[in-house]
Amino acid sequence: MKSYPALQKNSNEAPKAVIFNIQRFSTEDGPGIRTTVFFKGCPLSCLWCHNPEGIRQKPELMWYESRCIGARDCLTACPESALSLTPKGMVIDRERCTTCGKCEEACPAAALEVIGKEYTVDELFFEVNKDEAFYRNSGGGVTLGGGDPGMFPDFASRFLARCKEAGISTAIDTTGAFAEKAYDPILPHTDLILYDLKQMDEEMHKKATGVGLAHILRNAELFGSGDIPMWVRTPIIPGWTDQEENVRAVARFIAEKMPAVVRYELLAFNNLCVDKYQRLDSSYKLCDAPLIKKETMEKLASIAKENWSGDVRWSGATRLEDE
Ligand code: SF4
Ligand code: SF4
Repeated sequence: MKSYPALQKNSNEAPKAVIFNIQRFSTEDGPGIRTTVFFKGCPLSCLWCHNPEGIRQKPELMWYESRCIGARDCLTACPESALSLTPKGMVIDRERCTTCGKCEEACPAAALEVIGKEYTVDELFFEVNKDEAFYRNSGGGVTLGGGDPGMFPDFASRFLARCKEAGISTAIDTTGAFAEKAYDPILPHTDLILYDLKQMDEEMHKKATGVGLAHILRNAELFGSGDIPMWVRTPIIPGWTDQEENVRAVARFIAEKMPAVVRYELLAFNNLCVDKYQRLDSSYKLCDAPLIKKETMEKLASIAKENWSGDVRWSGATRLEDE
């Protein structure tokens, strides 16, 4: 089983967080137009993760095969001799690579990229505040996701407080897989919690994500009985979370233990992330899994509605009945 990564420690220095994407004009991570900040590092490692570059906490080098023109400038630029261009493609010696970025600078085709950059609270606030007019006019704001912002609790707390001072609405998208105290500094500055309940069977959850349900269900109940509104989400993954009994169990859990939930969303699986795994020298175990049928999504949504009386929605690409 995957062990929990070490949390960022509090210190007198200005905290920094490793961020791998700042997605502007996001419309799925909370109400209105939002900027979603993707923190690098996740306590889970879901088989279907669409952001494999967000699982490890440290920066990583990615090679884009389709962009590479074989110029070899990267090989001479690398001070660690960590790169070799072979007939099968670029081989990155990740033990040697320090993610210094010199190869990225040297490549004329932008075929190498260091994923994950350190930000201070001020630097990140400067970036997200550029979109302040969009938040104001749409009822949107900033969502911290990833990975999981719980990997950087001190940073997340200070950044969210800064947003609140500026009148920007805030949301966190968390796995819930940390001990409660990790959330203590974050929640006072949070307006909305996005929370995944993926699989309610303990063994299946461990196999699929690398961690058990103990923290996740305890925090679900704790946050769900608090006064911050929540959206619960279940990714519907073929063979892993798409069982009717699973969705029924999530909906019942919400109905019985999470009065703060205002929306339950079922998110249909897609497999658009295969290339990302290749760029990180890893394999995507669900690359041959089919899309979910529309009828299945509708059926699961109706089961959720039968068991919880709130706002149930589903979204995502689906396949036709006879595909
Ligand atoms: S919780 Fe989300 S970010 Fe973390 S591994 Fe699972 S799918 Fe990826
Ligand atoms: S990031 Fe730096 S150490 Fe890593 S391969 Fe590129 S040049 Fe070499």
